[in-house]
Amino acid sequence: MKFISTRGASPAVSVSQAMKAGLAPDGGLYVPERFPKVRPEDVDHTGGLPRFAAQILAPFFEGDPLSDRLDEICEKAFSFPLVLKDVSESVSVLELFHGPTAAFKDFGARFLAECLSFSQKEKQTILVATSGDTGGAVASAFHKRAGFEVVIVFPKNGVSERQRKQLTCWGDNIRAFAVNGDFDSCQRLVKSALSDPELRKELALSSANSINIGRLLPQLTYYAFASVWYLKKHGSSASFIIPTGNAGNAVAAIWAKMMGFPIGKIGMATNANRVIPDYFQTGVWKPAPSVATLANAMDVGNASNMERAFHLGSHGFNLRGEVFSESVSDERIRAVIAEGEKKYGEIWCPHTATAVEVFEHRLRRPDASGSSGFVVVSTAHPAKFETIVEPLVGHAVDVPASLQRLLRLPSIFDEISGDYEDFKKRLERIDGCA
Ligand SMILES: *Cc1c(COP(=O)(O)O)cnc(C)c1O
Repeated sequence: MKFISTRGASPAVSVSQAMKAGLAPDGGLYVPERFPKVRPEDVDHTGGLPRFAAQILAPFFEGDPLSDRLDEICEKAFSFPLVLKDVSESVSVLELFHGPTAAFKDFGARFLAECLSFSQKEKQTILVATSGDTGGAVASAFHKRAGFEVVIVFPKNGVSERQRKQLTCWGDNIRAFAVNGDFDSCQRLVKSALSDPELRKELALSSANSINIGRLLPQLTYYAFASVWYLKKHGSSASFIIPTGNAGNAVAAIWAKMMGFPIGKIGMATNANRVIPDYFQTGVWKPAPSVATLANAMDVGNASNMERAFHLGSHGFNLRGEVFSESVSDERIRAVIAEGEKKYGEIWCPHTATAVEVFEHRLRRPDASGSSGFVVVSTAHPAKFETIVEPLVGHAVDVPASLQRLLRLPSIFDEISGDYEDFKKRLERIDGCA
């Protein structure tokens, strides 16, 4: 299997080359040249997600040196529970937050780390600009991994207290830099470094943000697995409603559907950043500056993975027919969290709450009858956002054990200005003393 660029002007590469490169040389995103068709009944799902994932990812790894290692990679990466449960007669929840940093980003970050470890030949420095959950998941996945240095760059005043702890508690081969600026200035530093030929001569740099194909492929496996599970239990196919920011998680769900898994519609729930729902309404893609909301991991005004969604047209996929999108205000996020325990016995994180609201809005519509069963995707544990959630539910939220352990560790980070030359000197120094 080869991977091609969405912009069509780069050579086709194997999956491990695509992972190492991150972005294609023409500036596009890597996508599989075709979607292998799977008959869900032929896949063994009795062995849990790791066995299942290795089977359905095998065609994407065909001809790649990693293909012999795929069982082991999935076994190590997906070593925590995936939970699908019914919370009312008409809706189920797919919980993706039982990994070490309590957000779904653990699936992709751990899979990418396993793959890069096997294909690595020289020491690599991984750069991540993060607005919260990505940095923690990447740090956790690469911590103490021989041959890797990880540099996390985050906005000093732009992350929650607990998110900051998760970014700065690691030590060893993980360095955290707090930038006096916003997320965009963090991203600028990382992009400048990645495109600095002088620095790239000294350091083998790569990036672990969500445009990396190595984070997307593992994400399609939980949708495939959950869809088979759902069909067995309910006798109908599930429609997934997904809290959406950069749209990686939603594109992964579409890919699982393209492979033939029993998935109905796919809903992209956004916060007040409504570029994606506007596109579905008007057919015009019009990126806009992001606005800050309660669901901060989804504050994106120009979702990079939409380029992958648009590219599916070349496979005959009718994006605006199969996918829908709705925007949810902070006011509704608050209301949904406040009502969650009474209505469903659940405490939602602000991101998950957007998907719950989109589900409830569907139910209220007159044409709602006859639509297949809904699965709301839960992307983070509410304890990560306790300053928002606890006042709304009126009590403390239990913290999962893995998160408790991280919160007890001391924080280590350097404050930096956002000046590129200063950042570059610091990167060169890390290499020198390691
Ligand atoms: C990253 C993130 C999202 C958005 O996911 P995308 O793949 O960028 O659309 C949603 N919820 C949480 C908790 C996240 O960390």
